[in-house]
Amino acid sequence: EVSLVLGPILLSAARSQTLRRLVSASPLTRPVVDRFVAGETLPDALGAVREGAADGIDATLDFLGEDITSEAEALANRDAYLRLLEALGTEGLAARADVSVKLSAFGQSLREDLALEGARRVAEAARAVGSTLTLDMEDHTTVDSTLGILGELRKDHPETGAVLQSYLFRTEDDAKALAHEGSRVRLVKGAYKEPAEVAFQHKSEVDRNYVRLLKILMAGGGYPMIGSHDPRMIEIAKTLATRNGRTIDSYEFQMLYGIRTEAQHKLVNEGHRVRAYVPYGGDWYGYFMRRLAERPANLVFFLRSFTTR
Ligand code: FAD
Repeated sequence: EVSLVLGPILLSAARSQTLRRLVSASPLTRPVVDRFVAGETLPDALGAVREGAADGIDATLDFLGEDITSEAEALANRDAYLRLLEALGTEGLAARADVSVKLSAFGQSLREDLALEGARRVAEAARAVGSTLTLDMEDHTTVDSTLGILGELRKDHPETGAVLQSYLFRTEDDAKALAHEGSRVRLVKGAYKEPAEVAFQHKSEVDRNYVRLLKILMAGGGYPMIGSHDPRMIEIAKTLATRNGRTIDSYEFQMLYGIRTEAQHKLVNEGHRVRAYVPYGGDWYGYFMRRLAERPANLVFFLRSFTTR
C-alpha cells in the first residue's frame, strides 16, 4: 500500500519548518486545504457549525495551532478558544459544539502548569455557555502529561473528554481506567509517527486493537465517541452498542470535517448522533500533512492541483 511508504515521509514532513513555509506560501495549496479546514477566521468556524447543524451534525471545533515555542503564543491560542466559546454562546450554537484542544498549543512542552491553567479556563468558559472541552491526544511522549491534566480538569469538570489511540500498546490500560460513568472518550487509531517500542506498526494490528478497545468502552459506563471513517469500525461499534443494550444517545460517531460527508449523513439518517471535527485558523500545516499521510488519494488530489494549473 502506497500509504505505508509515503505515510512516514509525510509525517516527517509535517514537522519540517522549511516545508511548512514552502507549502503554506503556495497559493496552489489553498483549494486543497479548504477541503479539510473550515477557514481561517472565527466567522468561518461558526459558519461550519451552522451548516453542520442544519444537517443534524454537531461539531467539535479545533483552533489550529500546535508545537508553539513561547508563552505568548500559548496564551494567544487559549484566548482564541475563549473568543470562540463566547461567540458560540452569543450565536446560540454552544449546545451543538464541543471544542477540541491540543495541549501542545497551550504550552504543554514549555510548562505543564501553563497548559493546565489554559485548559481550565477553556473548560470553565465551555461550561458557562453550555459547551464541553475534549483534550486531543498527540504523540506518545505527551500521553502521561495529557492524561494527568485530564485528571486535574475532571475534578471540577468531569465532562471533559479524552482521546485514546489504538496504535499505542498502553491504551488498553488507559481505556479500562477511563471506561467509567460520566467519562467521555473519543477512540481513534492515532495520527502520529510512533516507534515500534510503543506502538503497533501494522494496520491490521491497529484495527484489531481498535475493536478490543471499543469492546471495553462500549461495555463500560462511559460515553464512547467513535472517531473513525472506517466503515468496518463503524459497523462493529453499532453491533457492540446493541449487544451492550446501549441507548442511541449513550455514544456518538465522530469524523473529520470534509471526510466521508455522505457517511456522516447516513448515520444521522439512521438516528445516530454524529459530530464533525472542524479545524479552523491559519496554522493548518501540521493538520493538513497528517491528513495527506493517512490516505494516498488525498496526496494525489493535492499533487494534481500543482500540475493542472
Ligand atoms: P483509516 O484506517 O485511516 O481508514 C480506514 C477506512 O476509512 C479507509 O479504508 C476508507 O474506507 C475510509 N477512509 C479513511 N479516510 C478517508 C477519506 N479521506 N476519504 C474517504 N474514505 C476514507 N488522531 C490523534 O492521534 N489524536 C487525536 O486527538 C485525533 N482526533 C481525531 C478526531 C476525530 C473526530 C477523528 C475522526 C480522527 C481523529 N484523529 C486523531 C485521527 C485518527 O487517529 C486517524 O488518523 C484518522 O481518523 C484515520 O483513521 P480512520 O479510523 O479514519 O481509518
